[in-house]
Amino acid sequence: MKEKKKIIRNGEKPVQQYRFYVQIAFALLCVWIGVQFYLFTRFLESNGTATFYNRPPGVDGFLPISSMMSFYYFVSTGHIIRSHPAGLFIFAAIVLLSLVFGKAFCSWLCPVGFLSELIGDFGEKIFKGKIKIPKWLDYPLRSLKYLMLGFLFYAVFVLMDMVAVKAFLESPYNQVADLKMYYFFADISKASLIILASLFVLSVVIRNFWCRYLCPYGALLGLVSFLSPHKIKRNPVSCIDCGLCAKACPAKIKVDKVITVVSDECNSCLSCLDVCPVADTLDLKSIYTKKKISKVNVAISIVLIFMAVTGIGMVTGNWQNNITKQEYLVHYKMMDSYGHPTGTAAVKEFKEESNKNESLTKNKPAQYNIREK
Ligand code: SF4
Ligand code: SF4
Repeated sequence: MKEKKKIIRNGEKPVQQYRFYVQIAFALLCVWIGVQFYLFTRFLESNGTATFYNRPPGVDGFLPISSMMSFYYFVSTGHIIRSHPAGLFIFAAIVLLSLVFGKAFCSWLCPVGFLSELIGDFGEKIFKGKIKIPKWLDYPLRSLKYLMLGFLFYAVFVLMDMVAVKAFLESPYNQVADLKMYYFFADISKASLIILASLFVLSVVIRNFWCRYLCPYGALLGLVSFLSPHKIKRNPVSCIDCGLCAKACPAKIKVDKVITVVSDECNSCLSCLDVCPVADTLDLKSIYTKKKISKVNVAISIVLIFMAVTGIGMVTGNWQNNITKQEYLVHYKMMDSYGHPTGTAAVKEFKEESNKNESLTKNKPAQYNIREK
């Protein structure tokens, strides 16, 4: 007869409530940034006659491609491009967070991740539980975000050189990328609205549809997370095989079947740790010291890492961009004519043009007016 295991109950307090508070705080911060940005656009729309409100630098966090390129340029040259400097620090904070705690940004701070979670909860209420996607569909769909990330990497790291990266970052298109993004939503087209509505419906039916299948940022963080020394570890000796951890996992990871969770889909939400009924059975541990990290310490560290890195940007004077009011007013009138290279041929052409311009205007900052094609 199989001997019954002696169970020592897990007395550690759940951390999901704290995670919810952090998500709410971060979402409110994003709403506040949105309100400030709206007031800033009112000034531009009035041709400079309305009250001027400073553009909130935090909006740079919503420009992941520009931020990634800015980070790449900084790492390669040691220089910070002044178009969206806050984006560089926000990107660095998110990457560092992923290096330390895996994809924690997605489940603790990302406003889209938070929204996705709320829509998923709503969907589960309607359908009375989680809807399972068969593996034959799940795997190819999961690869979509990597395809998008792969194309982005190819365009930036292979097709472009540092001259082209700098030219893009200093281009009028990139300078007003935040305004373009704002008007994408403020003046939303029928087609975009249909796409957003479809994503909403899909997220109701399939939990985290956007994050799991389409977000290239999440794909990047998933790859970085493999380097994180902190992993969720299951103790098979004390585990009672109740399966609660796997049931609670929003990423559908079979936590109850592995010793160490190594997955690009794990977003460090710690839900599995919260539901495990047995003490010292499921923990977040350092793979080097084998020491357990308490859930509260994880929560505090996530917030502190993000605040520390973005704080460095603020105290070193690399937070606000250097675009003047007058320049914004000019850009505002012309921004419909600004575009970016799309497709490999256009990126190659852009690189050649940037290098030509660079050799012509050695000491002057190049001004590229990329026309929509
Ligand atoms: S394995 Fe645990 S921490 Fe990772 S996503 Fe699943 S529930 Fe969250
Ligand atoms: S929740 Fe998971 S790790 Fe904890 S006892 Fe149940 S199966 Fe084992």
